[in-house]
Amino acid sequence: MNKLNILLLASLLCKISLPTTATEIVYPKSNNVTITSDKTFFIGNECPSKELKINSENVNIHPSGGFLHPVKLEYGENIFTINNGEETKIYTITRPQDNSSIKAPEFIEYDTPITALTNQANVPLRSTPVDVGLNRLQHLDANITFSIVGEYGDFYKVQLARDDYAWINKSHLKKVEKSDNKPAKIETYTYEETPDKRIFTIKLNKKVPYILYENAGLDLTLYNVDKFYENKYEFHINKTGKSFGYKSYYKNRTDLVIEVKNFPQTDKTNPVKGLKFAIDAGHGGPENGAIGCLGDKEKDINLAIAKNLEKLLVEAGAEVFLTRNNDDKISLSDRVSLANKQKCDIFVSIHNNALPDAAATSQRSGTSTYYYYPQSKSLAKSIQNTLVKELRLCDDGLKAESFAVIRNTEMPAILIEVGYMIVPEDNAKLITAEFQQKAAVAIKKGLENYLNDIQ
Ligand SMILES: [Zn+2]
Repeated sequence: MNKLNILLLASLLCKISLPTTATEIVYPKSNNVTITSDKTFFIGNECPSKELKINSENVNIHPSGGFLHPVKLEYGENIFTINNGEETKIYTITRPQDNSSIKAPEFIEYDTPITALTNQANVPLRSTPVDVGLNRLQHLDANITFSIVGEYGDFYKVQLARDDYAWINKSHLKKVEKSDNKPAKIETYTYEETPDKRIFTIKLNKKVPYILYENAGLDLTLYNVDKFYENKYEFHINKTGKSFGYKSYYKNRTDLVIEVKNFPQTDKTNPVKGLKFAIDAGHGGPENGAIGCLGDKEKDINLAIAKNLEKLLVEAGAEVFLTRNNDDKISLSDRVSLANKQKCDIFVSIHNNALPDAAATSQRSGTSTYYYYPQSKSLAKSIQNTLVKELRLCDDGLKAESFAVIRNTEMPAILIEVGYMIVPEDNAKLITAEFQQKAAVAIKKGLENYLNDIQ
């Protein structure tokens, strides 16, 4: 946005607020809220020519009208007087006393292991007994047998081999009366190649737990199989060039299939041509996402960038699947399963950022890109480097994070936080059609850099 536009916008804001002359607060979302953190912020907008004070501290108003002002919270009621020289608003925020007497659970070891089956598909097998973070070892099919050897809080500890253990949430296992956890037999093994993928099939006489781990290639460990040391069968799938997504599943009940997609042949001058992209505009419908300083909604900015990107990619000869192309509510699992069903080559989720109350004074801003699987890291890195260079917002980092939309996808997948909705400098850019187009151009360039670098 150029200076003239900022001034125009500022004068427009002043005009809009003229009848009330009051400051607009977009966060906290209402007066009389409870916040458990020791700090939070006031986010909102005011005419930049006014002198805005919160509890007699000066508030910096960006030329766009936006402001973000961190405040500390004491236990009990905190009163904030917001004065713009003409009108006063009083906000009360309550910070409850920290009465958390929740004790950490104790580990209970069972004298005799209990046999149990996974009770649904897509059950996370975890390396630690917590529901969050980067601790997923595998997603398991239904009806896989485990020996439970203990419990901790909401989790069962399961034994995979003599010295190998993992954790499954209690809600995902059903105990069985008759214990049949006899080792399985590997019957045959087949290998197939198609023009775009390699398919490995291991025929077993029953389903067993396995972990498919990304390394230099893919390392598969099958547990509880007869005639192998510790009943553990280890299998390595070589990397032949760059892999481009993979998936593993049981078919015909007990055949374990691993499909590894080959990296496509691309045209160096126009590498996106012929590929299919899933472009995922974050949030939608009743889910606004973050609210910007000027009251603008993240879901709208995400969609605008996504549509611009769609246009650019289609013009370049790519195919695009938009997980939403209007203001629809769509679940995280639908976004992923539709992209998988559509057999997209690359998944790009577009968001814009906010911060939790506890981070009120961290002064973060700018662009960040997230990946989950190691195979998506080089894509995330190309996008992040290109966006930082092209958009000239702060570099908020390349990060591994367990977000649902980049975790269950069968293709390289990333999530971009283009900028911060709540940071006035970022926000003033994000709301303009010019910057939304610039962001789309930069994402396309990042995709091209990745596709060319990796060949
Ligand atoms: Zn978001």
